[in-house]
Amino acid sequence: MPFYEYRCQSCGHQVEVLQKMDDQPLDRCPHCDGLEMKKLISASAKVSSPAGGCGVGQSGEMPPCMTGGGCPSN
Ligand SMILES: [Zn+2]
Repeated sequence: MPFYEYRCQSCGHQVEVLQKMDDQPLDRCPHCDGLEMKKLISASAKVSSPAGGCGVGQSGEMPPCMTGGGCPSN
């Protein structure tokens, strides 16, 4: 189960939540009740393969093949 990080665009409050894939995304700031939560790439979340990428990058980073390097699995 992946962690998702959200940052409130209104007050800057950052929150990390454990959500199932089919859970609703967090849309309300628990700090100021703002509705401008922006989802961040969580360092603890597993990187799923982006379209066209090999998905072997470190957690929270783009895989090598997406940043100009070669894809090690090819
Ligand atoms: Zn807020």
